[in-house]
Amino acid sequence: MSGQGGERGSGERSAWRSDSDVPSGRGVRAGAGAGTRAQVRAARRKRATRQALLAAGATVLVAAVVTVGALSAGGVIRFGAAPAGTPVSATGVATTTIPAPSFTEAPATDAGQSPPASEPPASEPASPPPPPAFDKAAKSIDDPTSPWVVVDKLRPLAGAAGYVPPDLVELAPDIPNPNGHLLRADAAASLEQMFAAARAEIGVQLVAQSGYRSYDSQVYAYNYYVNLLGVDGADLTSARPGYSEHQTGMAMDILGQDSSCTLDDGPCFSTAASGQWLAANAWRFGWILRYPDGATPITGYEFEPWHYRWVGVELATEMHATGVTTLEEFFGLPPAPGY
Ligand SMILES: [Zn+2]
Repeated sequence: MSGQGGERGSGERSAWRSDSDVPSGRGVRAGAGAGTRAQVRAARRKRATRQALLAAGATVLVAAVVTVGALSAGGVIRFGAAPAGTPVSATGVATTTIPAPSFTEAPATDAGQSPPASEPPASEPASPPPPPAFDKAAKSIDDPTSPWVVVDKLRPLAGAAGYVPPDLVELAPDIPNPNGHLLRADAAASLEQMFAAARAEIGVQLVAQSGYRSYDSQVYAYNYYVNLLGVDGADLTSARPGYSEHQTGMAMDILGQDSSCTLDDGPCFSTAASGQWLAANAWRFGWILRYPDGATPITGYEFEPWHYRWVGVELATEMHATGVTTLEEFFGLPPAPGY
């Protein structure tokens, strides 16, 4: 009997001897007094069988976990409850519950590729936005009281026959004003500043020759020139009643005490130091040279280096900055060479 057992036992013994590193605590103790050799061998077989089964099962599960992990890492599947990378030990197989995988569309960012950087905002301005463009409609060019009103041979002053500016004032006593002409208050104040600047900057006293002209005075002046020069000649020199900027109370004919120029000698004043200073600096005070040299086809008037028009610092500055010299061109109005 022992022979049979010995033969079978010897074969098993040779096959499993190498399993000496099986943890003793998990199987039947092989110590003395544990029982007969047959009992020991049986116990070893049971233990070995269990170990083999455990090892095989663990291998399958580990492989499964590795596979699932790889799929998850590749963005194919994602686990809903537990992260795919949760380690599962061999000894925990029996009780570890792998949560049911939920198959979802994996976002592209899980694909292991560099996440698509959110598009950078379109090139942001390196500097603050430019100031808004000049608003050419901010003030009326039709209202006789507007500092931007445009009066020319196609644009008579509205209601001219009965129009008198609302705020005419006398000029300051230190302003040479041989004819005692008036201006509107804002124009008068800026004129006084401009005259003071001319004294300070070039040492020349400017002279206020002709400012506000009433409708009736225009009738008188125009008729005077018609009698002297004829209609064509008068129209080149004096505005017809109702068509003169002087009635707005915002125009002034200016000369300087540094020259003997008059209002009848053409470009004389443009050669005087005072005339040149005015042409270069009047815009600073809100005044423009209304009938510049070479603009007769647009303005309808010969070059008048003495005739200045107050439009306010804002508009005068814009015209100076843009190099536009006539109100007709600045406001896109048709040329007004004649009536
Ligand atoms: Zn004038």
